[in-house]
Amino acid sequence: MELLEMNNVCKTYHLGEVDLPVLKGVTLKIAHGELVALMGASGSGKSTLMNLLGCLDRPTSGEYWFDGKDVSKFSINERARLRSQRIGFVFQTFNLLARTSAIENVMMPLTYARENLTDREMRERAAALLEKVGLKDRMDHQPSQLSGGQQQRVAIARSLVNRPQVLLADEPTGNLDSRTSEDILTMFQQLNRTEGITIILVTHDQTVAGHAQRTIRIRDGLIEGNEVTGGGLA
Ligand code: ADP
Ligand code: MG
Repeated sequence: MELLEMNNVCKTYHLGEVDLPVLKGVTLKIAHGELVALMGASGSGKSTLMNLLGCLDRPTSGEYWFDGKDVSKFSINERARLRSQRIGFVFQTFNLLARTSAIENVMMPLTYARENLTDREMRERAAALLEKVGLKDRMDHQPSQLSGGQQQRVAIARSLVNRPQVLLADEPTGNLDSRTSEDILTMFQQLNRTEGITIILVTHDQTVAGHAQRTIRIRDGLIEGNEVTGGGLA
Protein backbone atom coordinates (compact mmCIF):
# COMPACT_ATOMS: atom_id res chain seq x y z
CA MET A 1 0.00 0.00 0.00
CA GLU A 2 1.17 3.53 -0.69
CA LEU A 3 2.41 5.52 2.28
CA LEU A 4 3.19 8.74 0.40
CA GLU A 5 1.53 9.94 -2.76
CA MET A 6 1.91 13.25 -4.57
CA ASN A 7 -0.32 14.28 -7.45
CA ASN A 8 0.77 17.11 -9.71
CA VAL A 9 2.53 19.03 -6.94
CA CYS A 10 3.88 22.47 -7.81
CA LYS A 11 5.99 24.73 -5.64
CA THR A 12 6.74 28.31 -6.60
CA TYR A 13 8.85 30.58 -4.43
CA HIS A 14 8.03 34.27 -4.48
CA LEU A 15 11.02 36.57 -4.30
CA GLY A 16 9.69 40.10 -4.20
CA GLU A 17 8.02 40.63 -7.57
CA VAL A 18 9.56 37.53 -9.09
CA ASP A 19 7.99 34.06 -9.13
CA LEU A 20 10.43 31.18 -9.16
CA PRO A 21 8.71 27.91 -10.12
CA VAL A 22 10.82 25.08 -8.67
CA LEU A 23 8.52 22.03 -8.73
CA LYS A 24 6.41 21.92 -11.87
CA GLY A 25 3.97 19.06 -11.41
CA VAL A 26 5.50 16.25 -9.39
CA THR A 27 3.62 12.96 -9.24
CA LEU A 28 5.08 10.09 -7.23
CA LYS A 29 4.22 7.19 -4.96
CA ILE A 30 6.26 5.64 -2.19
CA ALA A 31 5.08 2.43 -0.54
CA HIS A 32 5.33 1.39 3.11
CA GLY A 33 8.77 -0.03 3.83
CA GLU A 34 10.55 1.22 0.72
CA LEU A 35 14.13 2.52 0.67
CA VAL A 36 14.12 5.09 -2.10
CA ALA A 37 16.75 7.48 -3.42
CA LEU A 38 15.61 10.84 -4.72
CA MET A 39 18.29 11.86 -7.14
CA GLY A 40 19.00 14.92 -9.23
CA ALA A 41 21.59 17.58 -9.98
CA SER A 42 22.19 20.47 -7.64
CA GLY A 43 19.36 23.00 -8.00
CA SER A 44 16.90 20.48 -9.48
CA GLY A 45 14.49 20.86 -6.54
CA LYS A 46 15.41 17.90 -4.32
CA SER A 47 15.45 19.80 -1.03
CA THR A 48 12.28 21.65 -1.97
CA LEU A 49 10.61 18.30 -2.62
CA MET A 50 12.00 16.86 0.60
CA ASN A 51 10.62 19.81 2.57
CA LEU A 52 7.19 19.08 1.12
CA LEU A 53 7.46 15.31 1.71
CA GLY A 54 8.47 16.08 5.31
CA CYS A 55 5.57 18.52 5.80
CA LEU A 56 8.02 21.32 6.62
CA ASP A 57 6.40 23.31 3.84
CA ARG A 58 3.23 23.05 1.74
CA PRO A 59 2.73 22.83 -2.01
CA THR A 60 1.62 25.87 -4.01
CA SER A 61 -0.83 23.50 -5.74
CA GLY A 62 -1.46 19.79 -6.04
CA GLU A 63 -2.25 17.05 -3.56
CA TYR A 64 -0.04 15.32 -1.04
CA TRP A 65 -1.44 12.21 0.61
CA PHE A 66 0.38 10.92 3.70
CA ASP A 67 -0.90 7.55 4.84
CA GLY A 68 -4.34 8.26 3.41
CA LYS A 69 -4.66 11.90 4.55
CA ASP A 70 -4.45 14.92 2.24
CA VAL A 71 -1.85 16.84 4.22
CA SER A 72 -1.57 19.61 1.63
CA LYS A 73 -4.67 21.04 3.37
CA PHE A 74 -3.18 20.77 6.88
CA SER A 75 -2.64 23.83 9.08
CA ILE A 76 0.81 24.67 10.46
CA ASN A 77 -0.06 23.01 13.78
CA GLU A 78 -1.41 19.87 12.15
CA ARG A 79 1.75 19.59 10.09
CA ALA A 80 3.93 20.08 13.17
CA ARG A 81 2.10 17.30 14.98
CA LEU A 82 2.38 14.95 12.01
CA ARG A 83 6.11 15.66 11.76
CA SER A 84 6.84 15.04 15.40
CA GLN A 85 4.83 11.80 15.47
CA ARG A 86 5.64 10.25 12.12
CA ILE A 87 8.70 11.74 10.42
CA GLY A 88 12.40 11.71 11.25
CA PHE A 89 14.90 14.04 9.58
CA VAL A 90 18.62 13.71 8.92
CA PHE A 91 20.61 16.54 7.34
CA GLN A 92 23.95 16.94 5.62
CA THR A 93 25.25 19.22 8.37
CA PHE A 94 23.97 17.01 11.23
CA ASN A 95 22.26 19.99 12.95
CA LEU A 96 23.11 18.90 16.49
CA LEU A 97 22.93 21.33 19.38
CA ALA A 98 26.44 22.48 20.31
CA ARG A 99 27.67 22.16 23.89
CA THR A 100 24.98 19.55 24.47
CA SER A 101 25.74 15.89 25.09
CA ALA A 102 24.88 13.20 22.55
CA ILE A 103 22.20 11.77 24.81
CA GLU A 104 20.59 15.17 25.41
CA ASN A 105 20.58 15.78 21.64
CA VAL A 106 18.81 12.47 21.07
CA MET A 107 16.26 13.16 23.83
CA MET A 108 15.41 16.62 22.49
CA PRO A 109 12.54 15.68 20.09
CA LEU A 110 10.84 13.70 22.88
CA THR A 111 10.33 16.89 24.84
CA TYR A 112 8.15 18.24 22.00
CA ALA A 113 6.19 15.04 21.52
CA ARG A 114 2.89 14.19 23.10
CA GLU A 115 3.95 11.00 24.79
CA ASN A 116 4.28 11.81 28.47
CA LEU A 117 7.50 10.01 29.24
CA THR A 118 9.38 10.54 32.49
CA ASP A 119 12.92 11.87 32.29
CA ARG A 120 14.17 8.41 33.05
CA GLU A 121 12.14 6.82 30.26
CA MET A 122 13.41 9.45 27.81
CA ARG A 123 16.99 8.77 28.85
CA GLU A 124 16.54 5.03 28.50
CA ARG A 125 15.05 5.33 25.05
CA ALA A 126 17.80 7.70 23.88
CA ALA A 127 20.52 5.48 25.37
CA ALA A 128 19.13 2.40 23.61
CA LEU A 129 19.23 4.25 20.27
CA LEU A 130 22.78 5.48 20.82
CA GLU A 131 23.76 1.93 21.59
CA LYS A 132 22.06 0.77 18.38
CA VAL A 133 24.08 3.25 16.31
CA GLY A 134 27.30 2.12 17.98
CA LEU A 135 27.84 5.05 20.36
CA LYS A 136 27.27 3.39 23.72
CA ASP A 137 30.59 4.77 24.97
CA ARG A 138 30.06 8.31 23.60
CA MET A 139 26.75 9.27 25.21
CA ASP A 140 28.16 12.15 27.23
CA HIS A 141 30.33 13.56 24.46
CA GLN A 142 29.42 16.89 22.93
CA PRO A 143 29.31 17.27 19.13
CA SER A 144 32.72 19.01 19.04
CA GLN A 145 34.19 15.93 20.72
CA LEU A 146 32.86 13.58 18.02
CA SER A 147 33.94 12.84 14.44
CA GLY A 148 31.65 13.71 11.53
CA GLY A 149 30.50 10.10 11.19
CA GLN A 150 29.78 9.91 14.92
CA GLN A 151 27.84 13.17 14.80
CA GLN A 152 25.72 11.80 11.97
CA ARG A 153 25.06 8.66 14.03
CA VAL A 154 23.82 10.86 16.87
CA ALA A 155 21.59 12.68 14.39
CA ILE A 156 20.23 9.34 13.12
CA ALA A 157 19.51 8.22 16.70
CA ARG A 158 17.73 11.56 17.27
CA SER A 159 15.67 11.11 14.09
CA LEU A 160 14.43 7.75 15.40
CA VAL A 161 13.55 8.74 18.95
CA ASN A 162 9.87 9.39 18.24
CA ARG A 163 9.62 6.07 16.38
CA PRO A 164 8.79 7.61 13.00
CA GLN A 165 7.24 5.78 10.07
CA VAL A 166 9.32 7.73 7.59
CA LEU A 167 12.91 8.90 7.65
CA LEU A 168 13.95 11.67 5.29
CA ALA A 169 17.67 12.14 4.82
CA ASP A 170 18.86 15.11 2.73
CA GLU A 171 22.42 14.47 1.46
CA PRO A 172 23.18 12.59 4.71
CA THR A 173 26.69 11.62 3.65
CA GLY A 174 27.55 14.87 1.84
CA ASN A 175 30.03 15.91 4.54
CA LEU A 176 31.55 12.49 5.16
CA ASP A 177 34.48 10.61 3.63
CA SER A 178 33.67 7.60 1.48
CA ARG A 179 34.33 4.94 4.10
CA THR A 180 32.24 6.68 6.75
CA SER A 181 29.52 7.24 4.13
CA GLU A 182 29.43 3.52 3.45
CA ASP A 183 28.91 2.80 7.19
CA ILE A 184 26.10 5.33 7.43
CA LEU A 185 24.39 4.00 4.30
CA THR A 186 24.63 0.45 5.63
CA MET A 187 22.96 1.69 8.80
CA PHE A 188 20.05 3.09 6.77
CA GLN A 189 19.72 -0.23 4.94
CA GLN A 190 19.62 -2.12 8.24
CA LEU A 191 17.03 0.22 9.73
CA ASN A 192 14.90 -0.23 6.66
CA ARG A 193 15.20 -3.97 6.67
CA THR A 194 14.94 -4.72 10.40
CA GLU A 195 12.51 -2.01 11.53
CA GLY A 196 10.56 -1.58 8.30
CA ILE A 197 11.05 2.19 8.35
CA THR A 198 10.35 3.85 5.01
CA ILE A 199 13.48 5.80 4.06
CA ILE A 200 14.02 8.48 1.43
CA LEU A 201 17.64 9.33 0.69
CA VAL A 202 18.05 12.63 -1.13
CA THR A 203 21.29 12.75 -3.08
CA HIS A 204 23.11 13.96 -6.17
CA ASP A 205 25.54 11.05 -5.84
CA GLN A 206 25.04 7.84 -7.83
CA THR A 207 27.02 5.80 -5.27
CA VAL A 208 24.58 6.84 -2.55
CA ALA A 209 21.56 6.12 -4.76
CA GLY A 210 23.01 2.65 -5.42
CA HIS A 211 22.20 1.78 -1.79
CA ALA A 212 18.45 2.21 -2.36
CA GLN A 213 15.98 -0.26 -3.85
CA ARG A 214 14.59 2.32 -6.24
CA THR A 215 15.76 5.65 -7.58
CA ILE A 216 13.39 8.47 -8.44
CA ARG A 217 15.10 11.03 -10.67
CA ILE A 218 14.18 14.68 -10.62
CA ARG A 219 15.29 17.15 -13.24
CA ASP A 220 14.40 20.80 -13.40
CA GLY A 221 11.39 20.37 -11.12
CA LEU A 222 9.91 17.33 -12.85
CA ILE A 223 10.18 13.61 -12.21
CA GLU A 224 12.27 12.31 -15.03
CA GLY A 225 12.18 8.63 -14.28
CA ASN A 226 12.12 5.78 -11.89
CA GLU A 227 14.39 2.79 -11.81
CA VAL A 228 15.04 -0.24 -9.68
CA THR A 229 18.51 0.01 -8.18
CA GLY A 230 18.40 -3.14 -6.09
CA GLY A 231 20.48 -1.67 -3.28
CA GLY A 232 18.42 -2.82 -0.28
CA LEU A 233 20.22 -5.43 1.81
CA ALA A 234 19.17 -8.93 0.90
P1 ADP B 1 18.52 20.92 -4.69
O1 ADP B 1 18.27 20.46 -3.29
O2 ADP B 1 18.17 19.89 -5.71
O3 ADP B 1 19.91 21.43 -4.89
P2 ADP B 1 16.69 23.09 -4.05
O4 ADP B 1 15.34 22.50 -3.86
O5 ADP B 1 17.45 23.45 -2.82
O6 ADP B 1 17.54 22.15 -5.01
O7 ADP B 1 16.57 24.41 -4.95
C1 ADP B 1 15.92 24.44 -6.20
C2 ADP B 1 15.83 25.89 -6.65
O8 ADP B 1 14.96 26.61 -5.78
C3 ADP B 1 17.14 26.63 -6.66
O9 ADP B 1 17.16 27.46 -7.78
C4 ADP B 1 17.10 27.45 -5.39
O10 ADP B 1 17.85 28.62 -5.51
C5 ADP B 1 15.61 27.74 -5.23
N1 ADP B 1 15.18 27.84 -3.81
C6 ADP B 1 15.30 26.87 -2.87
N2 ADP B 1 14.76 27.28 -1.70
C7 ADP B 1 14.29 28.52 -1.91
C8 ADP B 1 13.61 29.50 -1.09
N3 ADP B 1 13.30 29.23 0.20
N4 ADP B 1 13.30 30.69 -1.64
C9 ADP B 1 13.58 30.94 -2.93
N5 ADP B 1 14.21 30.09 -3.76
C10 ADP B 1 14.57 28.89 -3.26
MG1 MG C 1 19.50 20.21 -1.64
